[in-house]
Amino acid sequence: KACLENKALATYLAGEDEQYQRELTIISDLTAGLAQGQFHLEFQPKVNIQTNVCRDAEALIRWQHPDLGFIPPDEFIRLAEHSGNIGLVSEWVLQQAVVQIADWRKQGLELKVAVNLSAHDLLNLQLPTLIQDLLQQHQVPARALAIEVTEGAVMKDPQTVIAVLQVFKNLGISVAIDDFGTGQSSLAYLKVLPVNEVKIDRCFIQDMLYNQNDTMIVETTIALSHGLGYSVTAEGVEEQEGIAYLRERGCDVIQGYVYSKPLKANEFSNWLQAFNQ
Ligand code: C2E
Ligand code: CA
Ligand code: CA
Ligand code: CA
Repeated sequence: KACLENKALATYLAGEDEQYQRELTIISDLTAGLAQGQFHLEFQPKVNIQTNVCRDAEALIRWQHPDLGFIPPDEFIRLAEHSGNIGLVSEWVLQQAVVQIADWRKQGLELKVAVNLSAHDLLNLQLPTLIQDLLQQHQVPARALAIEVTEGAVMKDPQTVIAVLQVFKNLGISVAIDDFGTGQSSLAYLKVLPVNEVKIDRCFIQDMLYNQNDTMIVETTIALSHGLGYSVTAEGVEEQEGIAYLRERGCDVIQGYVYSKPLKANEFSNWLQAFNQ
């Protein structure tokens, strides 16, 4: 029995070790990978369900690692945050997104693209200037860019983050609160956040048609957000029935597989032209 236990322990440790090695590899390869073109952005449509028009997208980062293959963003973003590299990732994403927006504008496509920022980015006082320079360099108006910050990131240091978000808003960049309902925020903060949009987290949307508690949360969040003057996006809608349901309840925008998964830039513009015509 002792032998079996030791074996189990050894297997467990080997697993831990493998996981540890993977994380070390991810952290140490990130910077070079960015420079070597292993990353790209995908774009997921955000559809206005009241008008049936799509003029917004969320940019989502993708990493195809030469040895590890596809690494989910959840995994490497968390590690980049812990290792202090997230600033590099965010700058890369912003740069790519602005270049893409400029490219689409040249083709006559006027889109607003949202980029995800981390808590750490919001404490980087250079960031607003960096973004302004990027926009100017590529002749992209601020209204073509949005940022998404999670409720959790706001709550790490609400006073500072509110001040920084106000700077973005003053520049004309839209601000969305991401993963709403999952980050232990207090309603007192929601009231004073300088944001344009609230994104209801997928965990409430998934079962809203079947689970009364989720139904209640979704309806209340829409009413609350509208009451405070924010637009509402439902994330992760997969079923056709979800569209009519959310439209009736006044939700403004849907982002989910029901319309499209995240797409490469050229696939996205094809999708968009077919959808909006
Ligand atoms: P998020 O910001 O909440 O992004 C939405 C996630 O939900 C994306 O996963 C998207 O592909 C997925 N999704 C959208 N619609 C559906 C649906 O109908 N069903 C399901 N099952 N999933 C749906 P993804 O791309 O894997 O990204 C995961 C998370 O990684 C993001 O969550 C965000 O927190 C982070 N992330 C992704 N790209 C970036 C980035 O450029 N910078 C930062 N800081 N974080 C990023
Ligand atoms: Ca997001
Ligand atoms: Ca989200
Ligand atoms: Ca999320």
